[in-house]
Amino acid sequence: MEILYNVTMKITDVECHILLVHDLNKEATSSAQDDIVVFVHTDEGIVGVGETDVSPWVAKACIEAPGTHTMGLGLKEMLFGEDPRDTERLWEKLYTGSAMNGRRGALICALGALDMALWDIKGKAAGKPCWQLLGGKVKDRIVPYASLQPSGKSLAEYRDSLVAWAARAKEAGFRAAKVEVTLSGPYRHCGLNEPDEKMTEVVAAVRKSVGRDFVLIVDVQYTWSDAETAYRTLRDWKEFDIYFVETPLDIDNLREYARLHRMAPMAIAAGEWQTTRFEFIDLMDAGQIDVAQPDVGRVGGLTEALRVCALAAERGRRIVPHCWKTGISVAATAHLSAVTPHCPYFEYLPPRLCDSSLRRELVDEGLEFKDGTMALPRKPGLGVEVNPEALRRFKVG
Ligand SMILES: [Mg+2]
Repeated sequence: MEILYNVTMKITDVECHILLVHDLNKEATSSAQDDIVVFVHTDEGIVGVGETDVSPWVAKACIEAPGTHTMGLGLKEMLFGEDPRDTERLWEKLYTGSAMNGRRGALICALGALDMALWDIKGKAAGKPCWQLLGGKVKDRIVPYASLQPSGKSLAEYRDSLVAWAARAKEAGFRAAKVEVTLSGPYRHCGLNEPDEKMTEVVAAVRKSVGRDFVLIVDVQYTWSDAETAYRTLRDWKEFDIYFVETPLDIDNLREYARLHRMAPMAIAAGEWQTTRFEFIDLMDAGQIDVAQPDVGRVGGLTEALRVCALAAERGRRIVPHCWKTGISVAATAHLSAVTPHCPYFEYLPPRLCDSSLRRELVDEGLEFKDGTMALPRKPGLGVEVNPEALRRFKVG
């Protein structure tokens, strides 16, 4: 039964929490070691929760900084007194009102956390899971892919850790997995610096261990700077049947992305860092990427992620969302996937398999992973429960 609240509802407060794991390792490539969690309060007593994948200190400043002029307003102060259910109008208000400080980058990531919390409130107020309000389901089950990160200090350890992870993912029921294979470049693992042929050895070993009947994705994390250099390695991966290769090139070189799209024997994906639909239009039109990977928080929340999905559909591109934070983002991504027909997979790792204690302990994401798929979330809103004791334990600001 639908619960009817007052015709009006007002935002009364926005709370920001900066969280950090106790065993922080700055050498690690994982951004799941910190978090900003926002709570948006209303006069109805309904509280919405959101988060985003950017420096929590920067995001908090973006939200709490006071405004000084008409297009340099503060995100938090712009929300006071507004009805949280007016998600589209509020998105435009926040975007336009902060334009001189924002438009792209960290401010949009911060806006995304707030938008996520507004959708949580909207769902809770209606007594419905968010996907019902985002457009309704287009599938009965959603399919996560296992996102696997290597460990080890030598190439052999690195390769063997990925082979072991992939086997574990398959055993856990996953039908698809992504492995990071980054042996050089700015995102390389633990100081490794190996020639590109060694990447092929790693991919070959993982494919051999999981067999042919398994979807394999490779993330090379901005390793190359031009299409020819990327192609020299990627052409050898045709036999490994790679579902897509993620961020092969420097992200600002869209001309080279378009050239690689024409040369590579597999689909090209990017989008984990992009903020707003406008950056995705550039990625898809100038960069010709085949698979768009919006991160719900970073891109500007569920409101903006939906627009990106619509733009991808118009262009015949697939959506495979990025998600590397706590169960709050996981839930938001699950709702997005449920309403997006051209989203075959989304990034996921069950909490018990995650390195980050924040990811394991902060949130009950309310999702049930079984036989490689998940049922749609059933609880109102995002459907997540934040553990208040864990919130206190990880809080540093
Ligand atoms: Mg990536």
